[in-house]
Amino acid sequence: MTDILDLSLAAARRALADRSLSAVELVGAYAKRVEATRGLNAFITETLDHAVEAAKTADQELASGDAKPLTGVPIGIKDLFCTKGVQTTAGSAILKGFIPPYESTVTERLAAAGAISLGKLNLDEFAMGSSNITSHYGPVKSPWTRAGDDRPLVPGGSSGGSAAAVAARAVLAATGTDTGGSIRQPAAFTGIAGIKPTYGRCSRWGIVAFASSLDQAGAMARDVQDCAILLQAMAGHDPKDSTSAPLPVPDWSAALTGDIRGLKVGVPKEYRVDGTNPEILALWDQGLAWARDAGAEIVEVSLPHTQYALATYYIVAPAEASSNLARYDGVRFGQRVPGKTLDEMYENTRGAGFGAEVRRRILIGTYTLSAGYYDAYYLKAQKVRALIARDFREAFQQVDVLLTPTAPTAAFALGEKMDDPIAMYLNDVFTVPASLAGLPAMSIPAGLSSDQLPLGLHLIGRPFDEATVLRCAHVLERAAGFTARPQGY
Ligand code: GLN
Repeated sequence: MTDILDLSLAAARRALADRSLSAVELVGAYAKRVEATRGLNAFITETLDHAVEAAKTADQELASGDAKPLTGVPIGIKDLFCTKGVQTTAGSAILKGFIPPYESTVTERLAAAGAISLGKLNLDEFAMGSSNITSHYGPVKSPWTRAGDDRPLVPGGSSGGSAAAVAARAVLAATGTDTGGSIRQPAAFTGIAGIKPTYGRCSRWGIVAFASSLDQAGAMARDVQDCAILLQAMAGHDPKDSTSAPLPVPDWSAALTGDIRGLKVGVPKEYRVDGTNPEILALWDQGLAWARDAGAEIVEVSLPHTQYALATYYIVAPAEASSNLARYDGVRFGQRVPGKTLDEMYENTRGAGFGAEVRRRILIGTYTLSAGYYDAYYLKAQKVRALIARDFREAFQQVDVLLTPTAPTAAFALGEKMDDPIAMYLNDVFTVPASLAGLPAMSIPAGLSSDQLPLGLHLIGRPFDEATVLRCAHVLERAAGFTARPQGY
């Protein structure tokens, strides 16, 4: 028999349904794996005892025919989703010990679908970062290493704990959030699949806010089908989030037809950015060849404002963050450091509670929103954002989906790029444009670098057309036949 941990989410679900596998066995195997992979530091809080108990209930439901779509499926939750009664830290010291009295809509839906959480996954502090090194709870180690070099590598970020846990088979799938690339870049770094749906597809209610006009929850799993299954259970309109779209959720598994004949796949010519690793450019060409071989038509398109996307993002996101993070004042949430006056208490609390990257973003954000600079920076960035979105709208009059690399490099070592925030921000060059335009986008593992690290391909779709993104990703995933596994995992 294949190892339980080798079953995909879809296969595990079938085995649970035909009773050839029990939820207790499945969850038990994953709970052991979580313990065996603690060295990766993927979890901030484990809920294994609770998961093992929940598995018993799941087996009763499976036996009595009351199973729901994810009954008995062990998953992990990025520690940015509030979970009632379970510590939620957002990777920050300031929220250490914060036990939410409510559950985020997405995790509530997952629980209602029968999924069993093994715990809360590590992330960059307040989801700000591309490497998971800004977490107060320590960096996450990728299960991957370069060939012939055992230096620990970053799993990417900010959903680095989610990515490492999926890649190391410590969970079947995990939730992530993506503000500028935080699902897609770590998916690419760790050889897994990850989808950020259209802004508004998943409720943001109960997700610790970073940049509210960009934040979106999504799914991370071993393959496209598993992402479709998980996202299906997460998505849908929520009256508690006014930006959540009042649209029905299509059947995304049914969208995976394996057929992209006649699909128009766009290649944005401006994405051949300087500094991109030639191996990644070669993989991109390979991806286009796979699409062409499957009957798609490749069309070159122009997204002329892309070159401003990174600068725009790093104005808009910190501006919103500086406003969202004002609530951490030592009064209502988490940690408090006393002071002689109220102002001093605020200062002490925020000074002690926020790490360097979060402080940097708050400073940038308050600066760009300040009276003298608002027009020059924030307002300008909003205008450029509108142009970036317009570029995409025009491109999508000619094509159905866009194909690009996910990140300009493979994973880097822990410690690299740490003292240069700009080098770190450059990681997001391919992912932020879709975020600024609110579009669905997905990364799939598509190849290996010369030092045997995973590389991702990135698909961007029309608003609310996750179905086409998933369908095309599924075809490319098959063509790529990515089966590499991190050594020892
Ligand atoms: N790396 C980007 C940033 O640091 C994106 C983070 C995210 O998507 N949450 O802001």
